[in-house]
Amino acid sequence: MRSLVLIGHGSHHHGDSASAVQQAAERLRGPVGTAPGRVQNCFDEVLEGYWQQEPGLRQVLRTVASSNVTVIPLFLAESYLTETVLPRELGLGHQGPVPPGGVARVLGGRRVRYTRPLGVHPGMADVIAARATEALPTGTDPGGVTLLLLTARPGTGTPEAHARALSERGLFADVKVVTLTEPGATEAGLSEWRAHLAAQVGTEAAVLVPFFAHAGGGWQAQLAQALAGPGLPRLHVSGPVGTHPGVADVLLQLAGEGGQEERGDVDQPHAEAWAALRELAERGGRLGEVLLTPHGGLFELRHMLDEGRAAADLRTFVSPEGLRDFTDRDEAGRHRPVRTWRTLPRGWRAVLGPADLRLGLHLLYPAVVEESYAHAHHNLHCTPWASTARRQTGALAKVQRATPDQVDTVAAQVCAPCLRTRLWAGEVLGQTFFSGVPGGLPCAEACSVLLAAVRDEVGAGTA
Ligand code: SF4
Repeated sequence: MRSLVLIGHGSHHHGDSASAVQQAAERLRGPVGTAPGRVQNCFDEVLEGYWQQEPGLRQVLRTVASSNVTVIPLFLAESYLTETVLPRELGLGHQGPVPPGGVARVLGGRRVRYTRPLGVHPGMADVIAARATEALPTGTDPGGVTLLLLTARPGTGTPEAHARALSERGLFADVKVVTLTEPGATEAGLSEWRAHLAAQVGTEAAVLVPFFAHAGGGWQAQLAQALAGPGLPRLHVSGPVGTHPGVADVLLQLAGEGGQEERGDVDQPHAEAWAALRELAERGGRLGEVLLTPHGGLFELRHMLDEGRAAADLRTFVSPEGLRDFTDRDEAGRHRPVRTWRTLPRGWRAVLGPADLRLGLHLLYPAVVEESYAHAHHNLHCTPWASTARRQTGALAKVQRATPDQVDTVAAQVCAPCLRTRLWAGEVLGQTFFSGVPGGLPCAEACSVLLAAVRDEVGAGTA
């Protein structure tokens, strides 16, 4: 058995930030890799993890079912995040550039291999070319078109390498790397940027391909503002490279860079936790705000406050991803970076087969089954605040200066809507949902939302 974990940035505020990882994971859970000529998909499960939303980096490795795990950062360039933050938060004990075969560690009985980020793989040149040709009107000869590869971060060398590779292929008349305007540029600055762009194009038409992971983050509005002016050649604009379907193939190529891997075993503690959950689901029970009911060989999940409502009155989902997308927002449409906040919307039901139940619950309440089961069996490892704070670097290093009172004050606000009990702060959880207390969910370590809030509190105090 082998598991693949795709890691994205995520966001405390915008659900869009997860879209590239979500789309790639969904494709890889489907039949991609079974068609002739495609890279074979050798993974039995594909999970998602994020730096700034749940499933979080500290949780996600607990949720894999096998002892052989490949972790791919779905980022477009090597950076402080991919070389320092992600390996550290995953507990890999690695810092610095990642070699082509990745770095491998044994963590909690699992062999975990962490690869280079998606964007540096040479296969991304194919994705860029596909984005460009798909954006051109049907019948356009790309040999008469300039491809402009748009980046927000010049100088990483990654878009430049893809531009060189595409130039050598000769499919387009010319390939250039261009940089997005500064946010909030003045009209004079925008005009200068347009003149620079126009100077790059020696053909009648050009296609602009954003070397971005996803459509969120505000760059589209910034680009639209920059392009809304005179002096540009005939310009076609594609979608971002990170959400192109071809990314799934590149991910499988990247996963294969470590050479032939032996298949792993089923992770026993994980299997035991899910066997216990399955028993609970078969007799019916509550987990957090969710009511879990057996339903003719399937399982129905719904908000517990919707108990007794007719199915016809509720929106029905039959896939884990459909359930995830709907419950990603609260009833006011706000993103839910912490899934155990008591903001689960009502008005839905999910009907899932036994094979989909685990993924559905993983996306609804990440790591809750594994951590609650471990807590009930006295082997959940908790990380006290001081340890979490000590390992933070960059802008988050400020949290090391937070006083216990500041941490308590911020946690009282951030954690107030959360179902979890803060074991990392010394709170006691006697019973879990496994023993009939639906809200009995452990929190083993401060989450990224709390860390960011403490950082802001410390920053406000020193301003
Ligand atoms: Fe919930 Fe607080 Fe734990 Fe974050 S730190 S998961 S908000 S209890």
